[in-house]
Amino acid sequence: MRTVDIIRKKRKGLELSEAELAYIINGYTEENIPEYQISAFLMAVFFKGMAERETITFTKLMLKTGATLDLSDIKKPKIDKHSTGGVGDKTSIILAPLLAAAGLAVPMVCGRGLGHTGGTIDKLESIPGFRTALSITEFKDILRETGLSMMSQTEEMSPADRKFYALRDVTATVESIPLIASSIMSKKLAIGSDGLVLDVKVGAGAFMKDINAARELAKSLVNIGNSTGIKTVAILTAMEQPLGRHIGNSLEIKECLSALCGKWPDDLREVTLTLGAWMIEVAHRVSDFRFCIKGKKLTTLEEYKSALSELIADGAALKKFLELIAAQNGNTGIAANPGLMPPATGSKEIITGKSGYIQRMDAEKAGIASMLLGAGRQKKEDIIDPSAGIILNKKAGDYVTAGEPIATLYFNNKINVRDAEDIFSSGVELGTNKPEQIPLIHEIIGL
Ligand code: URA
Repeated sequence: MRTVDIIRKKRKGLELSEAELAYIINGYTEENIPEYQISAFLMAVFFKGMAERETITFTKLMLKTGATLDLSDIKKPKIDKHSTGGVGDKTSIILAPLLAAAGLAVPMVCGRGLGHTGGTIDKLESIPGFRTALSITEFKDILRETGLSMMSQTEEMSPADRKFYALRDVTATVESIPLIASSIMSKKLAIGSDGLVLDVKVGAGAFMKDINAARELAKSLVNIGNSTGIKTVAILTAMEQPLGRHIGNSLEIKECLSALCGKWPDDLREVTLTLGAWMIEVAHRVSDFRFCIKGKKLTTLEEYKSALSELIADGAALKKFLELIAAQNGNTGIAANPGLMPPATGSKEIITGKSGYIQRMDAEKAGIASMLLGAGRQKKEDIIDPSAGIILNKKAGDYVTAGEPIATLYFNNKINVRDAEDIFSSGVELGTNKPEQIPLIHEIIGL
């Protein structure tokens, strides 16, 4: 077999065989094929796509290059959740303890921020002492003891994806549906959960800006999951404006603590509870799990949502979050004293000179602004500033009076504040009429 023939075959839009895909994946992982040929291969896939069967085979072969977890000794239904990436998207950090309090096991292997989007691992690491680099044994022990565990990818997991992803990042081949789907699912399959709920973001702040592309990605993800033994459902949710009111790592943890005490913005509540209700539904489909509260067996998504709210109201979800923090060496004092995550030294309000209704608040621009303040990485090796970020006082649909602050920027390093302010403000549009609300939940794909 020759790499050049495989590239040519894909360039013509033909379906590659398992042997050809294995040749590419193993050749690259073992460094027998040079990056210039893999770059050409990726660009051919970017333009010609992959057949569904080919994407599934590609995913399984990527999975085979690394370690997989065996969670079969954990008897509760093991339900994972993953988001394709957004701004202010902190739902995983609320859902993991909430669903553990509901009786599921929630194993989460999470990522770091990517581009303008935030990452769960960076957020968790803003909790003083919190360890995310766990061994597989520690991860399983914590999952068994508490019902949840959250760690970063280990070196042994999905090495092929790590290499392919880094190369895609610098060859403009990230936004390819089969490449995104196989990348996400090869990592999800390695965890060994029984079910998976995917939050596929759509809109200005998402990788998929339009609903058709997001739907296609969701179908591909669901198809890979369901044909490889993980019951998978995808929910298309809006990412036009940031989710919730806090963007940036420790600021988002503070918003999660407040959410776990029942004080949260409507959009964050709606998306989180919808995803949580589907995690229960998936658990119900893959096992004999029945969600009961006060002896009553629940059966509908609406009942699941209100029961999940009860687990927040009675403190059970917050208690689980504190168990997780303690198990992973973090300082549980943050619940009583969020000031243990020190605030940034500098702040600047963004004030509008006009009055009107906010028509839109561009999530991507808000994400870039937050990254410029230090909450994200501009280069892979940049160090995150945990306290940098943005608090939104207003969101799309709100009325703002001239002179009123729309948002506050938080930073320790002033260098990019002007650029952050400009880019954030360029994404905010005012108008005289109250805009129509964009639905938060677009579609459910799968099951
Ligand atoms: N997240 C991933 O893990 N992989 C992609 O390709 C895109 C988003």
